[in-house]
Amino acid sequence: MSVEQKYDVIVLGAGIVGVSAANHLLRKGKRVALVDRREAGEETSHGNLGVIERDGFVPITFPTNLSAILKYALNRETEMHFHLGALIKMLPWLWSLKKASSPERIKKFAETISVVEAKAVGAHRDLARGAGAEHFFRDTGWVRFFRTEKSFAGLKDHLEFSDTYGAPYEILTAQELQEIEPHIAPVFHRAIWWKDTQSVASPGNVTKAYAALFSNSGGEFLIGDAKSLKQNDDGTWSVETEAGQISAKDVVVALGPWSMDILKPLGYSFPFAIKRGYHQHFAPRGNKTLSRPIVDSDFGYAVSPMDQGIRLTTGIEFADREAPPSPVQLERATKIAREVFPLGEAVEDEPWKGQRPCFPDSLPIVGPAPRHKGLWLDFGHGHVGFTIGPITGQLMAEMVCGEEPFTDPSPYSATRF
Ligand SMILES: Cc1cc2nc3c(=O)[nH]c(=O)nc-3n(C[C@H](O)[C@H](O)[C@H](O)COP(=O)(O)OP(=O)(O)OC[C@H]3O[C@@H](n4cnc5c(N)ncnc54)[C@H](O)[C@@H]3O)c2cc1C
Repeated sequence: MSVEQKYDVIVLGAGIVGVSAANHLLRKGKRVALVDRREAGEETSHGNLGVIERDGFVPITFPTNLSAILKYALNRETEMHFHLGALIKMLPWLWSLKKASSPERIKKFAETISVVEAKAVGAHRDLARGAGAEHFFRDTGWVRFFRTEKSFAGLKDHLEFSDTYGAPYEILTAQELQEIEPHIAPVFHRAIWWKDTQSVASPGNVTKAYAALFSNSGGEFLIGDAKSLKQNDDGTWSVETEAGQISAKDVVVALGPWSMDILKPLGYSFPFAIKRGYHQHFAPRGNKTLSRPIVDSDFGYAVSPMDQGIRLTTGIEFADREAPPSPVQLERATKIAREVFPLGEAVEDEPWKGQRPCFPDSLPIVGPAPRHKGLWLDFGHGHVGFTIGPITGQLMAEMVCGEEPFTDPSPYSATRF
């Protein structure tokens, strides 16, 4: 019979969120086990756009006018798609989203997120240095373009927040953008180039490199099913792994879109939803190049240069997590994107599908579970998990270790719902 291994902390989930928390806990002298059912960085943290946002001050909100609601209701848009059954189940969540979409709440969100986003690039670079992963990083910023004067005018608040919270940007005409991205067609009215945002050429490999840093620094990475989590009579937590049962006083749930799979059986209920998204890679035609992520704001898709080719990522799909893929947005976006950048053949036969783990206020939960001692929650990073995974990993580690957190953790508390 194998002897149960004891740790100070077990981190469940080896996406960017769990891997980052595990590294920070290790640095603070904790004995840490990181558990996943597969290798690190192979789910949502693999397939995203790889952008580390400095300027994500405006949350995803509910449409404010009837014409926008009617437009989405037809289900023919590129930026949003839904499965009707899933949308109906999500009505209470959408109602919470509507409440979180007031101007006051958006202002509060910007104030909160600006603190962590200001540290996000530094937190990544710090891990990347230790992990030998700096070659994945680009400091070329990112660009959002707007096809009409009207859509550009919708950016007013975003630019004001950028001024308030110190995220430098430049407003470009189509001709000016061509000076830095010569192969982007001049199909738009104005573009914004946010200069302090960074991006990576392989978010999955960056996450894997941080996991290797954890293992090489004395952490234990184990394959196991988080659903085996149980609390023992003495209050410690145990999980079954391929190396046998392990236990610890503290456990961090960082299972992204799967977090509620283990929290529901423990009696927790949060307004949590997933928003699916797709990507596909394309070879650039001829010797055409792209140097940074570019977002076509009016159609809600993005393209970015990756190790595998030009990655095209889609907007939001409201569908059940396990429902078969329905990549209609990808098909629509690819047609539009071909008029913007000379995309060649698709690299893979099938697109990738992932799911963003989302709360209606666009902030994750980072902090203690309200009813179980030693249970910590670190999930729900939504559209910016790759950006803020490392810095919220620091916040989580500070809280688990009983240290003064670098920022007020109350906006991230589980008790806000
Ligand atoms: C199309 C798209 C584009 C995006 N672009 C960006 C972007 O440019 N910038 C940005 O900041 N964010 C972006 N995001 C969001 C970002 O990818 C996510 O917020 C982030 O990856 C979430 O990380 P995570 O570690 O919480 O989850 P994940 O990476 O999904 O990790 C969860 C882990 O839990 C493991 N797991 C699940 N169940 C179990 C179990 N029972 N037992 C053991 N292990 C289990 C999984 O194997 C997985 O490794 C994008 C998302 C999508 C879908």
